[in-house]
Amino acid sequence: MSGYILLVDDSPAYLNLLHNILDARGYAVQTARHGFDALEKIKAQPPMLILLDINMPEMDGFALCEQLKQDPETAEIGVLFLSAHHDTETKVRCFAAGAVDYISKPFEEAEVLARLRTHLLILEQQRHLNGILNASLDGILTYRAVRDAEGQVADFRCLLANPRAAEIFGAAQEGLKLLSLKQQLARLQHPVAWQELLDVFVQGQPLDTERYTRSRRRWLHMLAVPLEDGLALTMRDTSERKELELALARLAEQDSLTGLPNRRVFDRCLQQEWRRCRQAGEPLALIMCDIDYFKAYNDSQGHIAGDGCLVHVGRTLQHQISWPEALVARYGGEEFGIILPRLPLSKAVQIADELLLAIRSLQLPHPGLPGAAPVTLSLGVAACLPDAQNGMSQLLQQADQALYRAKAQGRNQVVVAAAD
Ligand SMILES: [Mg+2]
Repeated sequence: MSGYILLVDDSPAYLNLLHNILDARGYAVQTARHGFDALEKIKAQPPMLILLDINMPEMDGFALCEQLKQDPETAEIGVLFLSAHHDTETKVRCFAAGAVDYISKPFEEAEVLARLRTHLLILEQQRHLNGILNASLDGILTYRAVRDAEGQVADFRCLLANPRAAEIFGAAQEGLKLLSLKQQLARLQHPVAWQELLDVFVQGQPLDTERYTRSRRRWLHMLAVPLEDGLALTMRDTSERKELELALARLAEQDSLTGLPNRRVFDRCLQQEWRRCRQAGEPLALIMCDIDYFKAYNDSQGHIAGDGCLVHVGRTLQHQISWPEALVARYGGEEFGIILPRLPLSKAVQIADELLLAIRSLQLPHPGLPGAAPVTLSLGVAACLPDAQNGMSQLLQQADQALYRAKAQGRNQVVVAAAD
């Protein structure tokens, strides 16, 4: 018997009267003569609504109602008090105990039926709403503003948190509701700032954003909208999509053959470092290098072997450089570009010399060359103190010209750009 109405009254006359009225209207009804009997019936099969007398021996209506409201299993059952007391104090006490309504005895049949219909409708709507909230894939939370003595909003009290919200927070649903908004934000290590949410409330403008929660290691799409005297917050875990996006972004910046940063990253990084070094008054150095006689290598061994050689050289360059701020990129073809922020020319030359030796000592046989000659590099080095007069493209050009001279002078060597 689900969705039935339980009548609790110690007066058999009232019990019979109510039973007959409701039964005639097709309601499923059960009756209880005292509080303990009622508790047993509620436990066996929770009703939707209880019509509850106040004055009963042993356990009165208030005590029964309070007990029901304390138990999460029965807290949602609607309680309507029926009593011969007409004073305001009693009525207020009924609502304080958790009742949804109060009907005076003796009652009018039409009034009881009308109030019953209203509360059944409200309960049904609430059940629909709870169904939606419980099934939602979004975490949903609502809050009411809490003000300090000066009337300023000091925090928000959580009124509602659905199961998905609890899951996102890694908390029990009831426990989550006990935390204020500030405490909840702290639990997620502040993916959004308190001030941002306060602005939503004060300025009435929604906040629609995607943030990373450090404590949960998840990406969350968060939408905060103002309510009458509070906020509603919905959260959706977007980690899977976001990780995919980030992985694609990383792929778009990576040279697919060597795994090194590509030309696009080189150009962007050079611009950033140029600005940074210019602001800090620090030097910026560049090494441009490429594999000697690489066309001959490809021509004699084919492109697959050539690719293997590029990977080997690229990785060696990257591992060899110990300067933590260095960026080694595949510039194009068999050419590599190395950005060395905050290094003077002398240090950059030292690094270039080390790279020359490192590749030479790999002793990778170069089948396109006579004898047992190994794969070697030619390197051009340039550095400058970035300023308005000394342009970035000029630095790049100097390193490139130095590389060209290294080629022209017989390859397998480092050439330093001439100072202006
Ligand atoms: Mg009574």
